[in-house]
Amino acid sequence: MSLIVQKFGGSSVANAERVFNVARIVTSTYDEGNDVVVVVSAQGDTTDDLIAKGNEINPNASKRERDMLLSAGEQISISLLAMAIEKLGYPVVSLLGWQAGFQTSSAHTSARIKRVVPNRIRKELDKKCIVVVAGFQGISKYDDITTLGRGGSDTSAVAIAAAMHADLCQIYTDVEGVYTADPRKVKNARKLKDISYDEMLELATLGAQVLNNRSVEMAKKYNIELEVLSSLVKAPGTIVKEKSKMEKMLISGVAKDTDVARISVIGVPDEPGFAFKIFSKLSSKNINVDIILQSIGHNGKKDISFTVAKDRAADAEKCVQDYVENVNAKDFIVNTEVAKISIVGAGMESHAGVATKMFEALYDAQINIQMIATSEIKVSVLIDKKDADRAVSAIHEKFFEQ
Ligand code: ASP
Ligand code: MG
Repeated sequence: MSLIVQKFGGSSVANAERVFNVARIVTSTYDEGNDVVVVVSAQGDTTDDLIAKGNEINPNASKRERDMLLSAGEQISISLLAMAIEKLGYPVVSLLGWQAGFQTSSAHTSARIKRVVPNRIRKELDKKCIVVVAGFQGISKYDDITTLGRGGSDTSAVAIAAAMHADLCQIYTDVEGVYTADPRKVKNARKLKDISYDEMLELATLGAQVLNNRSVEMAKKYNIELEVLSSLVKAPGTIVKEKSKMEKMLISGVAKDTDVARISVIGVPDEPGFAFKIFSKLSSKNINVDIILQSIGHNGKKDISFTVAKDRAADAEKCVQDYVENVNAKDFIVNTEVAKISIVGAGMESHAGVATKMFEALYDAQINIQMIATSEIKVSVLIDKKDADRAVSAIHEKFFEQ
C-alpha cells in the first residue's frame, strides 16, 4: 500500500462535472489500495473574483482580512469534492489548512509554510478515509488564517508529501505535462517524459505556468518526485525529479516572459561606485533586478541597462530619476515593450555552442537581441515584445525540429 498525494488545480474542479471527474480519479486511486490525500485549489477564477469583491468594499483592506476572504475559495472546493466522493459511496473527510496541520509564518498573503503536523490527516487515513485538504492556506502562530501567495496550492501538496513521506505526489492540471514550449503557441511542442528539478525551477521562474516555483524548490529540497499530468486526458505526464536521464536533449524548453521592463541609464560617470549606487537604491526598495548590461566607457561616461518585473517598473523609474539627477547622468529610458526569451537545459553544462544555436535561430528570423544573460543551465535574451512568439517558434524549431 502506498500513500499518494494528488493535487487538483482550479480548472480541474471548475464545475460540478469536473468535480465528479476528480472524485472518480481519486476513488480509483483509493480502489487500487492506496491511502489518498487530495489537495485542491479554489474553483476556476474564484480567487480572482474574491480579490475583486474585496477591492469593491475596501481596496486598502488589511492583509489579514484579505487572507480570511481568499481562503474561502478553497473551503468551497474541498467541501464540494468531499460531497462528490461521498455520493460515489466512499468514506471521505475535508480539512481546512489549519485542521490539516499547516503552520505558517504570519506574512499574510505570502506566508511561508513552517511545518506541517499531519496528525489529523494520519488519524483519518487510519480510519480508511480519503482526506481532502484545502490548498493555499494555513494558520499563523497568532491563530490567524494565512494564504501562501498565488498558485500556492502546489506548494501545499508538496509540503504534505514531504511531511508524510508520500510515495508519490501527482499534480493534476489542465495540460498534459511539461512541454518544450507553450503547446498553445508552438504547434510542434513536445511533452517531456521527465525533467530535473533545476530545469523545472528555471522554467517555472521564467513563466512556464505549469508549476509554482516554490513547490519545485520544496520538492527538490525534500527529494519528492512529482508527476505533472492532466485531469481531463488520461495519459502519462511529466516526472520532475533529481536528474533526468531518460531523454538526452540539449535543452528541455523554451520559455517566454513578457512581464519585464528594460531601464537604461545613459551617460553615467565611468568611475568606481556608480553601478553600486544605483543598484543599492533599487535593492533598498526591494526591486529585483534581472539582466544587467554595462557598456564600455567612452569619454569618461558609460551606459547601464537592466531589467525588472513590469509591475515594479514605475518604482524603479523613480529610483532612476533621483539617481540621474544626483550623479548628473545624461538621461534614462524605460521600455516596457520587451520580452525575455530563455532556453533551459542541463545539457548546456557539457555542450558547447548551445547559445550560438539560439542566436543563429534569432538571426535567421531577423530578430534583434537587446541583452543577453546566461547561467549554467539557461540562456536568456531580451528582445522586442512584438517578436516574442516568432522568436520562441524559431528557437524551438532550431533545437527540436531540425
Ligand atoms: N486559489 C489560489 C490561486 O488562485 C491558489 C492556487 O490556485 O494554487 O492563486
Ligand atoms: Mg487558482
